[in-house]
Amino acid sequence: MPDSLHRLALLESIIGAVNLGAIVLDEHRSIVLWNRWLERHSGWPAASVLGRDFFDVFPELQHKRIESAITQALRDNFPSLLSQSLHKAPFPLHIPAAPGADGQERLQQAVAVTPINLPGTARHCLIQITDVTVAVGREKLLREQTMVLRSQTFSDGLTGVANRRHFDVAIDKEMRRARRSGSALSLLMIDIDHFKAYNDEYGHQQGDACLKQVAAELATMLNRSGDVLARYGGEEFAAILPETTADKALGLADAIRNSVRALAIRNGDEHGAPRYITVSIGVATQHGAAPLEIPALIGAADRALYQAKAAGRNRVSDNGAVPLAARPAFPRHATI
Ligand code: GH3
Ligand code: MG
Ligand code: MG
Repeated sequence: MPDSLHRLALLESIIGAVNLGAIVLDEHRSIVLWNRWLERHSGWPAASVLGRDFFDVFPELQHKRIESAITQALRDNFPSLLSQSLHKAPFPLHIPAAPGADGQERLQQAVAVTPINLPGTARHCLIQITDVTVAVGREKLLREQTMVLRSQTFSDGLTGVANRRHFDVAIDKEMRRARRSGSALSLLMIDIDHFKAYNDEYGHQQGDACLKQVAAELATMLNRSGDVLARYGGEEFAAILPETTADKALGLADAIRNSVRALAIRNGDEHGAPRYITVSIGVATQHGAAPLEIPALIGAADRALYQAKAAGRNRVSDNGAVPLAARPAFPRHATI
């Protein structure tokens, strides 16, 4: 075999063997090469497409980005890359189904259109199609995992409500927003009463279940779209209430207090009478006219909570102005 024929045969078998789709168009956009990879993934033998107009074979690609890429290659000698993320699977190609499997998966594609300049002939163009299905699948999985991780980073593992980190971000954002708009913002600090006694009586696991039940009830009560309910500490929750005046916040806090009591979760006895799980709530409000710093708002809600506890528990207070020094000892943060 002469050298040049041998080289041609070699080239042809290489094009047949490469692991990508190769289409060559002549200057009239007729298909002059269709490799074996394409036969496999499209189901169309070369004989059925060779010599045909490209857009006769793929009418759905007319007026799409690929058409201008072909024009740019043939007319302007200009190469193009069609990224997978912007041009989803333009060609109707599929991953051959495994034996016994039903349905074929659409093949994800990266497409390159390159001008081919041959001496003595009009310019041709080469369309290369690469299978990026695995990379796309991996990317999708990573994105989903990232979403799950992100939501875990900001939610409390036990109760599913926002965690302390989420609270810190949210209060900062909402305080800024309230300051900008001059609207009121209220904060509730909600602490379960006599929860140590509950744990002592029923065990830690049932304590966890009780925490979940109380958190679910709080979430139901705080269902306006801007409200943020967070687990602030062990058995303490915080609720950020944007655009909520002191009056409204007190009313809501009292409704919450009632609804937790209405769960009728038994918490042992007190002086021989049955006792039920209740919450004490401290309320603080930042008014548009007199903005507060975040620690001042949290401090006021904290002190009000303390007042509610000192006044007998199962109460709501917004009297957070009491100076710290005037307070008797009250265990604010429990260690478990
Ligand atoms: P007070 O009415 O003054 O708030 O009394 P208290 O018993 O609720 O307060 P204290 O701070 O003495 O105790 C809080 C208890 O909450 C102690 C701790 O064992 C319990 N606790 C905190 N976090 C968890 C938790 O995740 N699971 C369970 N089961 N218990 C918890
Ligand atoms: Mg408590
Ligand atoms: Mg507490």
